[in-house]
Amino acid sequence: MIVEPSPTETHRLVRAARCAGKSVGCVPTMGALHAGHVSLIERARKECDFVVGTIFVNPTQFGPNEDFSKYPRTLESDLEMCREAGADLVFTPQTSSMYAPLAQTIVRVDRLASVLEGAHRPGHFDGVSTVVTKLFNITEPDRAYFGQKDFQQQLIIRQMVEDLNHPVEIITCPIIRESDGLAMSSRNRYLSPDERQRAGRLSQALRKAKQLAQETSLAPAEISAAMIDMLRSVEGIDLQYAVITNGRTLELLTEPTEPAVALIAAKVGTTRLIDNEILHFSLRQ
Ligand code: AMP
Repeated sequence: MIVEPSPTETHRLVRAARCAGKSVGCVPTMGALHAGHVSLIERARKECDFVVGTIFVNPTQFGPNEDFSKYPRTLESDLEMCREAGADLVFTPQTSSMYAPLAQTIVRVDRLASVLEGAHRPGHFDGVSTVVTKLFNITEPDRAYFGQKDFQQQLIIRQMVEDLNHPVEIITCPIIRESDGLAMSSRNRYLSPDERQRAGRLSQALRKAKQLAQETSLAPAEISAAMIDMLRSVEGIDLQYAVITNGRTLELLTEPTEPAVALIAAKVGTTRLIDNEILHFSLRQ
């Protein structure tokens, strides 16, 4: 496995693989890797001849009061996990090689990026769509792998790829969870033992929503009210949103139609967590 910090050299290495007839898969990450990230690399390994992981804590997707400076950086163990998962190349750029001091171009997706996470984290998705565009330009992948964990993000990337004619197929991979249901996240390591226990309530609320959608004829608003009830009652959880939306447009659902997704964001202590679950309204369809 090659570890390469230079964008130019990474581009050259990927080009060489392409010229040798290999298909290229790209897995963008911010490091502090866990089994969720590994599942993306393993999927890419199965489907592509040349697998590129990227590890870059992208400053432009963090707000001024967010956790950029304390975001976990665990490069040595990350590289080991990439190697074990079968990556061929890991791109590990420095901020200075990704952003020239005078850079002035931003890629912005409009409506999809303005709601939910976009509303709570102004500018976040501009940072994401811009850095992903740059990573696509550097690694020229045939396929790129994203987690359903960041549901809104993968929708935005899909929209961007379509709007800008990026010749890449976006693959969304399932959420990998801890045994109590908590979605794996690099930020889970911020949680104290007590907060870690409470954090399990998020996925419980989502499972409840999934069950209510499947087994009752409650309306989406009633199901989201049930999620909110479950979470509001937990001390130490500061709920930011718990909604049921159209799984393509992210508009709030008024009727039990599909695609549908339940999305939650909450602060557990000072740690902000997000999670989601696809819903099926079996009784109604
Ligand atoms: P991050 O390093 O948090 O930017 O995440 C990099 C990629 O891994 C994103 O596409 C995430 O959606 C994905 N990812 C993060 N957590 C999980 C998880 N628990 N299961 C599956 N994919 C995940």
